[in-house]
Amino acid sequence: MKEEVLQRTCSSCTACCRPMEIPELEKPAGKWCRYCAVGKGCRIYQNRPLPCQEFRCEWLKGFGQRKDRPDRTKVIPDFVKIPDSLFDDGLFQIWEVARGKLNTPYTQYMTKYALAGRIWVLHIPLEGPKLLFVPRGETLTLDIRIGVSEAGWEIGQL
Ligand code: SF4
Ligand code: SF4
Repeated sequence: MKEEVLQRTCSSCTACCRPMEIPELEKPAGKWCRYCAVGKGCRIYQNRPLPCQEFRCEWLKGFGQRKDRPDRTKVIPDFVKIPDSLFDDGLFQIWEVARGKLNTPYTQYMTKYALAGRIWVLHIPLEGPKLLFVPRGETLTLDIRIGVSEAGWEIGQL
């Protein structure tokens, strides 16, 4: 791994303190955490809950360029594997940190890049339905459509 990637740290990035739900703190999705000093850090860092301790976005793991830290791009790349689901092999989630940032050329580039690698992509806005993007050639079976609808998601179009 490149030296620059090994040295990546969250530093003053607090991007993931807004979009995600943290049940331990009764923090809803899409709202800043009350313990977040935005652009500075976590006020309860030593005692932050497990999901906060464990979350590492793809940028932190080496995805993209150094300048693409999520507090600058305002979107968080997050690759997850969900066993026993359609996403056994992975789902590329892109979390919105500021309104409108799921519609930028940067987000579109990441989305197309993942789809070209046959990875399903989920756009997660601060509010409103999540959009699922399907790799070209995949069949949207009735089961999948029902699952998407039950989850409150919609099928996205690029
Ligand atoms: S979005 Fe990534 S780089 Fe930013 S604080 Fe969260 S894990 Fe760290
Ligand atoms: S507890 Fe800290 S790390 Fe977790 S969401 Fe709140 S401010 Fe961010």
